[in-house]
Amino acid sequence: MNYSIADVKAREILDSRGNPTIEVEVLTSAGITASAAVPSGASTGIYEALELRDGGKRYGGKGVHKAIESVMKKIKPKITGMDARHQKNIDATMIQLDGTENKSKLGGNAMLGVSIACARAAAASDGQRLYEYLDKDAALLPVPFFNIINGGKHAGNPLEFQEFMIAPTGAKNFHEALRIGAEVYQTLRGQLLKAYGKNSINVGDEGGFAPPIKTPRDALDVLVKAITEAGYVDDVKIALDVAASTFYKDGFYTVSGEKYSTDELIELYRELAASYPLASIEDPLQEEDYHGFVKATKLIPTQIVGDDLFVTNPTRLAKGIEMGACNALLWKVNQIGTLSEALEAASMAKKNGYGVMASHRSGDTEDPWVADLAVGIGCGQIKSGAPARGERTAKYNQLLRIEDWLGSKAKFPQSLFG
Ligand code: PGA
Ligand code: ZN
Repeated sequence: MNYSIADVKAREILDSRGNPTIEVEVLTSAGITASAAVPSGASTGIYEALELRDGGKRYGGKGVHKAIESVMKKIKPKITGMDARHQKNIDATMIQLDGTENKSKLGGNAMLGVSIACARAAAASDGQRLYEYLDKDAALLPVPFFNIINGGKHAGNPLEFQEFMIAPTGAKNFHEALRIGAEVYQTLRGQLLKAYGKNSINVGDEGGFAPPIKTPRDALDVLVKAITEAGYVDDVKIALDVAASTFYKDGFYTVSGEKYSTDELIELYRELAASYPLASIEDPLQEEDYHGFVKATKLIPTQIVGDDLFVTNPTRLAKGIEMGACNALLWKVNQIGTLSEALEAASMAKKNGYGVMASHRSGDTEDPWVADLAVGIGCGQIKSGAPARGERTAKYNQLLRIEDWLGSKAKFPQSLFG
């Protein structure tokens, strides 16, 4: 088999919010073609790899012609002829070519498209699926975290906290977890319609409902009611992505019209964890407050996940591990921009006893590669929005397929959060 990269193409497509994004295609000398579409965030961390966008009038400045130019004029000449299996070399070549701390020259979006498309081309060359290519013994499906109430920057309602998720930790396997999630989602829809009327079942960017409720407790009550009516009190836990940087200003967090200091906000989380089946809280504090995160991790009895704090960056994660900030990593490959660096962050997290939750972005595409990667790294947790909307179900449906392909080898976490 000839694995050498013969051609690279890039095109502009639309993401789930109707904004442009880049799709990259890699062709090998053996005639294998593979592609990858790149997702995009809204509550983007300030330390993330830069998404190269065109500016100007076209698509409101969000065009990706410059990123396409990076791929075609700068990256393609360097990687043509390289072996598609040599992921680290390909990624290192791009990192060197870019030469900046935040990938601002080539664009993290351009680099990620190439990085994932190469991995897929290498996998396809050997007749492997992407998850098998990452690890031939991969068999662990992840527990899905369904974001069924949207707030923050993802919705037009008054809730500051961005994501209210349900996790069917008591399910026996992935397809049962998906069914439980979908049943609770539909039950919630019915309850919201009754309680708040038609406007309440409008959905946010990640497919969760965006009812006109104002406080975190109200949202959690609504979730508990839906879980209870659907009959899954013993099987479903709740998780939050607070995305606290989005409502932090001048030393204070404003939640439901009230100002909270860091200590007061930690106290609020402790109270919520005492009243609800809360298993995980992501970004409870703003993205620069390592010391606050250390305190939060000590005091709050749930998984504490670092998203904007770590931005899937091995250097930022290493600092967090040393200090004791968080006990889990949110794993978004586009935050760092290459597969190799993201894999390094995931293995660093695992080695140090941190959990890893694979993640989509709020602006995503119908490309399901993150589902394969989640199984490939065996992280046991994934969030990909509600069990609704094509770009979200693309990932969950791919996990159903992978479970099917694995057959009796498929595993599912049995004691996540005890
Ligand atoms: P984003 O949100 O994709 O808009 O950044 C997801 C998250 O914060 O986890
Ligand atoms: Zn987040």
